Amino acid sequence: MSTSDQVPAGGDLVGAGLVDAELVEAAVEVARRYARGDNHTVAAAGRAADGRIVTALNAYHFTGGPCAELVLIGAAAGQGAYELTTVVAVGDRERGVIPPCGRCRQVLLDYFPELRIIVGQGSRLRTVPVRELLPETYVWADHQVD
Ligand SMILES: [Zn+2]
Repeated sequence: MSTSDQVPAGGDLVGAGLVDAELVEAAVEVARRYARGDNHTVAAAGRAADGRIVTALNAYHFTGGPCAELVLIGAAAGQGAYELTTVVAVGDRERGVIPPCGRCRQVLLDYFPELRIIVGQGSRLRTVPVRELLPETYVWADHQVD
């Protein structure tokens, strides 16, 4: 199986590059159904460690309202899903998969160091470790004094 193959169902996708197509579809569905106006324009979906899919929308505000990925962290925790293994974000108006912004990369890495992020477009979607999206980054947990 090449790294460009799409895997139709979620579950344990070992192998870097394999895409959790069910997770992407969940984000696409939320973006299509619930994205609204200028406040909610990006959907995120996360695969929890127990296999569940949790979804969220961003909450735009000019003061720095959270991206969909950050809302997702809280939404997942609110359902008892404290560990996410894979995350993807999708734009409204059929914009497809959107890579996480710098702030989200840092937050996602600090929350879930082993997290995988789905990036790319169309048939070129791929899954990459969040660490690869932030090489040589500051890791908050490494600098906390006990
Ligand atoms: Zn962001």
